[in-house]
Formats: sequence, structure tokens, C-alpha cells
Amino acid sequence: MADAGSIDTLVWCPTSGERRGLHWADGSIRERAQGAPTIGLPEGACAVPGLIDGHLHLILGGLGLEMLDLASCTSRAEVERRVRARHATLEPGRWLLAQGWNEDRWGGEQPTAAWFDGLGDRNVVAWRMDHHACVVSRTVMARLDLSSTPGGGEIVRDAAGSPTGLLREAAAWHIAKPAIPAPSVDGRRRALDAAVRHLHALGVTGVGSMEYGVDLEHVLAPCRHDLPLRMAVTLLDRDWPLDVTQGVSFERTDRLWVVGYKSFIDGTLGSRTARMHAPYADEPSTRGLWTELAAEGLLRDWAEHVLANGLSPSMHAIGDAALTAALDALERDERRVGRIEHAQTARAEDIARCAGRIISMQPLHKADDAPSAPSRLGASRMDRFFRFRDFARAGARLVFGSDWPIVTCCPMAGMRAAITGIDRIGAVVVPEQSLTPTEALTAYTHEAARALGFPAGCGTLQAGAPADLTILDRDPRSADWVHAPPRVLMTIVGGEIVHRSS
Ligand SMILES: [Zn+2]
Repeated sequence: MADAGSIDTLVWCPTSGERRGLHWADGSIRERAQGAPTIGLPEGACAVPGLIDGHLHLILGGLGLEMLDLASCTSRAEVERRVRARHATLEPGRWLLAQGWNEDRWGGEQPTAAWFDGLGDRNVVAWRMDHHACVVSRTVMARLDLSSTPGGGEIVRDAAGSPTGLLREAAAWHIAKPAIPAPSVDGRRRALDAAVRHLHALGVTGVGSMEYGVDLEHVLAPCRHDLPLRMAVTLLDRDWPLDVTQGVSFERTDRLWVVGYKSFIDGTLGSRTARMHAPYADEPSTRGLWTELAAEGLLRDWAEHVLANGLSPSMHAIGDAALTAALDALERDERRVGRIEHAQTARAEDIARCAGRIISMQPLHKADDAPSAPSRLGASRMDRFFRFRDFARAGARLVFGSDWPIVTCCPMAGMRAAITGIDRIGAVVVPEQSLTPTEALTAYTHEAARALGFPAGCGTLQAGAPADLTILDRDPRSADWVHAPPRVLMTIVGGEIVHRSS
């Protein structure tokens, strides 16, 4: 039995309890698997259900592994130096694509095209860490039609009224993005492979991924039977009226299926485009933006159309007013399959409406947004920020993920943020909302599997479940999550070892 195996270490599953040792054969967990070779593991190792990242962008993440990473830049000079260094290594004609910048890391100065002057005819596009804004070089600006602003977007202008090169929301997505040469199908397949390897090394055995229909058809569907992880696709195609044919007719396998469609209600807190009930504390002229269908009053029609076709509407809602709108749109979702993504701020009256609803959150967004949240929201609204505990208490079904490539897709880093409340600069933020290791692990396994339509048993380690396992170097219940979070030793998908740490 080539694909049978067995481990004799501690096994801990939040839904089926603790035991010693586990066996599998033919890809599934068994009470006993005759002749299964025992895989040796260090003393103290602990097997948990395979970790599921409930919200990421797999192909984009894979492509991003090749982009210039500006996430750690703390000054304009550093951004310019790194861009120059990359420029020097790129062949002529190639676009220089970067991501990860965050003006909060250098005092708030907004980047402009001038930051990329002196690079000849190189085209540069640098995405903000949340991918809700980008700044482009003058060479790119010359290619774009900046004469009119699309609804739900902003072309940032200087005092004289000229575009600076910074584009926000719909302006970034609908003006800048289409100008960037699309990677070939082969390039996207390579990105998929790179992304999967990256996730395996982090202990991830399954994902909920946001993808375009064209990639589902050309990049993903050809590997629907042998994809080395499980993947629930939420389609990003958002034309209205929405044609759901592709999602409804997709032939599912136990590795790849379509769970629903995605819509954006608002933007992000960092760029003050998340839609709030009251104005931003540090910019009282704005309450943020309604985007896309929400801006046109069509969100509810859209959600009901997706539901009527047996699929899950997934709604990006970061501001507290966006959460209200998402809940309104799901009023007739009796099966409770709609997913509210992010839910970074919430009023008490909306928390109560979340009972039984899928709330898909990203703990590392809390760590990233926490340093600027008090200025955006004002001290009096910080009790609305990342209410993990309140959602759990209200009976919401918490699903955790990363939103990679916007932040790292390391589930141990996400669990640490959810358990400790520690943000990216080391401060502990709204610790009363922190969760226990058991709750955080449940959100990364069992609840993610349920919410995303994984094969039966996924997210647990009971007999009959697919043998998807993540083996950690220590028990997450007793680990010191501040100083020494668990590390991934091995990742197993369907009984096959796909990663072994060296
Ligand atoms: Zn996302």
C-alpha cells in the first residue's frame, strides 16, 4: 500500500478530540491501516487537521512571488532604491511590478510617479499593500486615459489638478490594471505551482481562493484531478447582470470546485475607503466609498441571484456600514451560505445579526491595520475593531484566512495575531477580542471546510475523513504564542506527504 501511512505522535483535532497515533490508506483516515509504514516524527510533535486558508488569491499570490516586495520599506528613499535595483536587473521592455508599500510606514506621504523618475522608458506599477491603490510611473501614465474617473474610484491630483500617478480603488483596477500586460497561461500555471509549494511549506492543505473565470478555465480546470491541495474557488467575475453558467456547471472534484461569486461593497480602512456609518476621525469629510454593485444599489439583487443558483455570495465588507449592507443583502439567505469577508469593524446591533452567519476574517489584517486604526476610527470607535470574540459569542461561524498576497499566508502567524492580539509593531490591540488556540484552529480548519464546501470530513481527523494533516513541532494548546509559535514539520494532502521541513 504505497499511499498508506501512520504516525504515532500526539494527534489533536478541535472537533474529535485528542489521541495518540493516526493511520491512513487510500487517501483517507482509518481506524487501522494494515501494513502502513510509520513516519518518524520528533518527540513533542502534534498533528492537527490540515490547515485551510479561507480567503486568498492563489494565482495572484504565485505571480506576486515574482514581484518586487516593498512591504518592509520605511522611507521614500528605500522604495526608490529598491525599485532602481530591480530596474537594473530587468530586461528592457519588461514591466517592473511591485507590491506591498504602505505610506503609514513612512509618515503618510503619498507616493507619486516622480518616485520612479530616472528609469528611462521602464513602465512601473506599484500596488499598495491592500491592492486597493497603485502608483504608476510617468511612462505608464502616458498610456492611460486619465480624463474621467470611474465610479467608486479616485485619480489623485496635485494642487494644480494634474494626476500624480496614484490611483485608488476602481481607478486602479479599471484604468491601470488593464494596461499591464497579462502573464501568459504558462506563466500563470507556473505561478500556480509556485503558490502551491509556498503554501505546503506553511502547512496549508486547502484554500478558498478568489479567481477569475478565465483562470478557472485555462489554468485550474486542467489540474482538477491532481491539484496537490484542495481549492474552493470564488469567482471574481462581476459583470451585471451576472452570468453564473460557469460556476453552476463546473464539474467538481475532491480537489477543485466553485463555491460562489464575489462582490466588493467598499474599500479599506488604510486608504479611508471602507464605508463607515460615521466620518473618519482623521478625515471628517469622508465616510469612505460604496463600490461596484453596492454603489449602484444592486447588491441585494446580486446576492439573491447567486443564492438562487445554489452558490455562495461572498461580500467584501470592511467598514461598519458595509457590514450592515452585507447583512441586509443576505436577509433571505435561509441556508446561511453567504460569506461576509473581512468584517473589520462592526456595530453591536450588527454583531447580533451575525448568528449562524459565515464571517470570514483575516487576523493578520488586524495586525497590519491596528497601528493606524485609532487615528482612522477615533478612540471611541476602537471597540468596533476586529471583534473576533464578540462574533464568536454571538454564534457567528468564524473562518480565518490571510488574503494573501496582501499579507503573508502563514497560518501560524495568523493564529498568533488572533490569539495574542499583537500587531505588526508589537503592541497588543483590543486583547478582549483575542481567541483561544482551539477557537483559532477551528476557524482555520473545521469552520473553513464547512463554509467553503470541502469534501465531507475535511477539517477534522475522524475516521473516514480525507487524510489532510499538518504536523507541528509542538502542541498549539500549550505553545508560547508570543515568543515561540509552533512550526510546521510536515504537510500531508490526501495521505501524500507534500512538504517535509528540512
Ligand atoms: Zn481578498
